[in-house]
Amino acid sequence: MNAGMDYPGQIAIAEQGWLKAHQWLLLRRLSQLGILALFLAGPVAGVWIVTGNLSASMTLDVLPLTDPLLLTQSSLSGTLPTLSGLIGALIVLAFYALVGGRVFCAWVCPVNLVTDLAAWTGRCFDIRPSGKLSRSLRYWLLGLILLFPLLTGVMVWEFVNPVSMTHRGLIFGGLWGLGWAWMLLLCIFLYDLLMVRRGWCGHLCPVGAFYGLLGSRALVRVAADGRERCDDCMDCFAVCPEPQVIKPALKGAAKGLGPLIGDIHCTNCGRCIDVCSKDVFRFTLGRGRPPPDREGTPPLMRLNPRIPLFDPSPPANRPGGREE
Ligand code: SF4
Ligand code: SF4
Repeated sequence: MNAGMDYPGQIAIAEQGWLKAHQWLLLRRLSQLGILALFLAGPVAGVWIVTGNLSASMTLDVLPLTDPLLLTQSSLSGTLPTLSGLIGALIVLAFYALVGGRVFCAWVCPVNLVTDLAAWTGRCFDIRPSGKLSRSLRYWLLGLILLFPLLTGVMVWEFVNPVSMTHRGLIFGGLWGLGWAWMLLLCIFLYDLLMVRRGWCGHLCPVGAFYGLLGSRALVRVAADGRERCDDCMDCFAVCPEPQVIKPALKGAAKGLGPLIGDIHCTNCGRCIDVCSKDVFRFTLGRGRPPPDREGTPPLMRLNPRIPLFDPSPPANRPGGREE
């Protein structure tokens, strides 16, 4: 951030107005809450536009949607999918493969509200968690949650999956229906706030890892098209849930890297676009791939055994506790 500026996006708000400096954030919240409202409309008001939950649903009695990760686990456990379940999973796969897998994280997942709240609280109270984990850890966990049903015939992950537990709990019982999910969400909040910055979504969640892989060749991307205008205020790094994805696109011109953020971990949240007073970023269409040796790239895409699973290096204690 520039000297004298207290929070990321402050210059953008002053120069372009609060609404423009929050446009993608507001749209995202609208999407997250709107999707939740669609699911709740049936049980709460008797308006059955959508039945089911994020794991498997039916819209207007014609459009089945199935969580492909759940379907994979269930198939590995020995349960063959129904035709409707299979079609639903293919529709979801095609959608996220096109728009970016981690669009699920930023625009749909209810847990994102909690992790964003932890990040915002940390910025407000200048809390800088010092823990470090490899961002690859989520892919090892993804491998584990697929291995369990194969070996045991039980979808173990679904007993503790905060994404489906939160969504199911809210739909079937409102805030009181969350039950144990409350405890999980509180743990995730405290973990992100006090132990590892963006610890859950950025390092551990196998659901996000799965969707990241799914969108590895997606067409909808963010590009740092106006990178020559960047004044190094660092606001985009401060608000980005995966700040490591920005640098190659923003600062890679000298290395011949293009302005497209092609890293699979970018959630297409648009927050970098919101807070940048120099209009460096925009949504665009294009394909990209992560730069070689990027820390956090899925093990099978990286194949670099020199990068440790746990990163012992001290945290970056830059102003605001930001990573680059
Ligand atoms: S990483 Fe996991 S918990 Fe976080 S937003 Fe994505 S799916 Fe939800
Ligand atoms: S680069 Fe921008 S769009 Fe991508 S995750 Fe970071 S803030 Fe969101």
